[in-house]
Amino acid sequence: MSETKPQGLHTRAIHAGASPDPTTGARVTPIHQSVAFVFRDVEHAANLFNLDEAGFIYSRLTNPTVNALQDRMADLEGGVGAVCTASGHAAQMLALFGLMKAGDEFVASNKLYGGSITQFGHAFTRFGWKVVFVDPDDPDNVRRACNERTRAVFSESLANPGGTMCDVQGLADAAHENGVPLIIDNTLATPVLCNPIEYGADLVVHSTTKFLSGHGNAIGGVVIDSGKFDWSTNDHYSHLTDPNPAYHGMSFVDKFGDLAYTVYSIAVSLRDLGPTMSPMNAYLTLNGIETLPLRMRQHSDNSLAVAQWLEQNPKVEWVSYAGLPSSPYYELARRYCPKGAGSVFTFGVRGGYESGVKVVESVKLFSHLANIGDTRSLIVHPASTTHRQLSDEQKAAASAGPEVIRLSIGIEDADDIIADLDQALEISVGE
Ligand SMILES: *Cc1c(COP(=O)(O)O)cnc(C)c1O
Repeated sequence: MSETKPQGLHTRAIHAGASPDPTTGARVTPIHQSVAFVFRDVEHAANLFNLDEAGFIYSRLTNPTVNALQDRMADLEGGVGAVCTASGHAAQMLALFGLMKAGDEFVASNKLYGGSITQFGHAFTRFGWKVVFVDPDDPDNVRRACNERTRAVFSESLANPGGTMCDVQGLADAAHENGVPLIIDNTLATPVLCNPIEYGADLVVHSTTKFLSGHGNAIGGVVIDSGKFDWSTNDHYSHLTDPNPAYHGMSFVDKFGDLAYTVYSIAVSLRDLGPTMSPMNAYLTLNGIETLPLRMRQHSDNSLAVAQWLEQNPKVEWVSYAGLPSSPYYELARRYCPKGAGSVFTFGVRGGYESGVKVVESVKLFSHLANIGDTRSLIVHPASTTHRQLSDEQKAAASAGPEVIRLSIGIEDADDIIADLDQALEISVGE
């Protein structure tokens, strides 16, 4: 018998987690729009509630359509399990809820998506979770920020909006030296361009709203567990290692081994907080992922062409795209994202805030809106929209100054994308 060769990415994007419906033969995973699932008998129900048997009880916890997406994402990221959530922000909350209690701290990159900086810096403080923001370019900044209350390190692989790349392995080393897991937000890179778990990330989160669903039509999030972090390495994660009173004194680590964090995230975090993904959104995201590897190639190729064109345009001050040799992040991107540096990046338009506003109001093919990762090309002026809530200092750190324009390059023809930017810059920027 020949040895089974691992399947390629295009194959897994279509098939992982899904199989024909056993009762109807439906080839596409159905939208299981049912709140609850019938127990075979009382013993079956008892086993499900005791976590002695896997199965479906109630869709706040598990649902067959959502489950297919979880299995597909665990496969694509190389994890042991995954938990879907109502949004990317819910994924971040859930990821940290499995690690933190009131009074604990985590260290996060100061280059994150503006919404994450607000979520971490304001909303989470009301849970008693303290964030310490550091510049992730030097992993020693993470080492200096860690203390005995630190429970996690959080960064984006490719960062929104600046398109900068972090040193995943360097950050993983810094986190592990301090006995805590590294969480990577892999939304911009997707598992097609970057595999953070290969480089030491313990947990990966996504806003599936973006490239994974890919068509601007479904909000969602996911947390993927590498299964590699040893929760018993210290006493930080006693909710995973110690007897759980709500489950008859069971320890998640003893019972579920490398799936402890995933099972906890469903059986406790989803059960008690409730930020569940809807079956409809799971269905749309499963469909989107089938073309993810094809789309990411076109997104990246188009983006490189647009970035190169912008870089030689006299109406443009600078371009921040890790796929350009001029970028300080070029080498990191080549190492961690060898197939392309994604499609979200920024450039500085000559003429500052005023020109920035004019450009977003003059484009025709681009849509002026606050989203990324659509088939369509999207444009936004962060200083007046997504990053409005941040202080000037935070805006600068998150590369969202007054002259900054963020692009999310779609999968249209590159020539058409460039022609649209050309006419908009022509109208908006003086000689
Ligand atoms: C959009 C985004 C989020 C938040 O995701 P939602 O689905 O909008 O809640 C988090 N991280 C990054 C990098 C994002 O781009």
